Amino acid sequence: MEQSVKAHYDFLVIGAGSGAMGASRRAAMFGKKVAMIENKVIGGTCVNVGCVPKKVMFNLASFLEDAHVISDYGVKGLDKLELDFGHFKRQRDAYIKRLNGIYSTNVKNAGIDYIEGFARFTSPKEVEVVKGQDQPIERYSADHILIASGSTPEEGTFEGREHCWVSDDIFKMEELPKSAVVLGGGYIAVEMSQILQAFGVKTTLLIRDVPLRQVDSEVVDNLVENMKKLGLDVKLKTPFTKVTKDQDSGLISVHTTTNEVFEAEKVLLAMGRPPCVRGLGLENAGVEVLPSGFVKVDENHFTNVPGVYAIGDVTNHEQLTPVAIKAGRILAEYLFNGRTDLQMNYANIPTAIFSHPPIGYVGLSEQQAIAKYGADNIKTYKSKFTNMFYSLAAEDKKKLGTLFKLICLKTDDGQEKVIGSHAIGRGVDEMMQLVAVSINMGATKRDFDRTIAIHPTASEEYVLMDPKLYF
Ligand code: NDP
Repeated sequence: MEQSVKAHYDFLVIGAGSGAMGASRRAAMFGKKVAMIENKVIGGTCVNVGCVPKKVMFNLASFLEDAHVISDYGVKGLDKLELDFGHFKRQRDAYIKRLNGIYSTNVKNAGIDYIEGFARFTSPKEVEVVKGQDQPIERYSADHILIASGSTPEEGTFEGREHCWVSDDIFKMEELPKSAVVLGGGYIAVEMSQILQAFGVKTTLLIRDVPLRQVDSEVVDNLVENMKKLGLDVKLKTPFTKVTKDQDSGLISVHTTTNEVFEAEKVLLAMGRPPCVRGLGLENAGVEVLPSGFVKVDENHFTNVPGVYAIGDVTNHEQLTPVAIKAGRILAEYLFNGRTDLQMNYANIPTAIFSHPPIGYVGLSEQQAIAKYGADNIKTYKSKFTNMFYSLAAEDKKKLGTLFKLICLKTDDGQEKVIGSHAIGRGVDEMMQLVAVSINMGATKRDFDRTIAIHPTASEEYVLMDPKLYF
């Protein structure tokens, strides 16, 4: 029997992740009647199977890596450290549960209706929500509907893909495998291979060409050097062809075009995150998608259908939590607070990759800058050094490399506009936020030079890159 519409909203948001939260809470602030529909756990990828649990794992991995160096400072017993992974997982999961609770409270306090179930468009102004096998389908209508359904790990189509884990599985892992092969060369492959290695899992990272294409190639070279120093078996230019499993031993083999076979207990696939659009019924609303599968939006996050919008990972923009949050808030300001002057600025988005030590970047790499402006118009400053933290390290292999680069566009007045910074080293994940502020304010190289250093820190290298100005 056809159900009648259960409720009508000003703003109906599909998803309860970072972008959805940003948009719906801001809309509720303006007194709008808002509902969110979520078929998984509140908080989305970032809170449940992404940034947050990953960062907790990175913190632990960093401590374990640092312990090797601190033992050279004279601290005894660090070589006998033993990780109780079960305890760690319970603590991490409890933390995530607390965050889920805080999110639920925030939604409730904002007066937003939270609807559990899977949303599907039936028309541009209406969705039906499938709640469970024996439960009736509910129908909701709205003046404005936002698609903020996020993304999901790429599962591949190659032979043997069913033997592989994706990143969601890493967070379910109850105990550590003895060995792992990680396939991919993006954020997740770089971060997870190093975390697993630091946890004592013998890890191989197989990259079809080079890692982190968007990052300055010298910084990437430094990353690969550091990975090797830490004992990670990293193979560049090694595409894989198929994955097989030995039924007796349970071991999984990755076969490559270089005719090598890499065997491990677990294989992690980290090859991108396609948008969650399957089953959404976009065709019922007439919403256009790009050939890549992402929802097509304009600069204000409007789709081709009036009253239907999309933000975050489901669109073809940077798949980063703060990007989705900002886009969501701006959309709500635009729709419900008359701020049609606001527009998301996708230039100079800073980001960090939690390798050991981390990478941070904002703006163009040297290679991107040269491609855009020509080599004659670009001046790059760099500082390559060993962080003082490693000063007492007994062996070279413990001394992980640091490289800071400032990429500048030459200007007629000789001031040189900073158009990018790419860096690897202890603390650059924290530094890059403020480098991004200065670049977004239009900082020149001379502004950096004019600034007094904080000594002794690694970040002081940012203002000491020009020896002729040491006076
Ligand atoms: P990325 O888009 O970062 O990287 C995808 C990787 O998979 C690339 O190295 C790509 O290689 C490789 N790849 C794609 N297809 C194949 C194939 N058939 N065989 C071998 N390799 C292949 O994806 P991730 O899954 O790592 O992460 C998704 C997104 O999530 C990131 O782009 C980022 O926006 C976000 N994220 C952000 C984090 C952070 O802020 N710290 C942490 C984790 C994720 P190639 O370059 O050759 O195409």
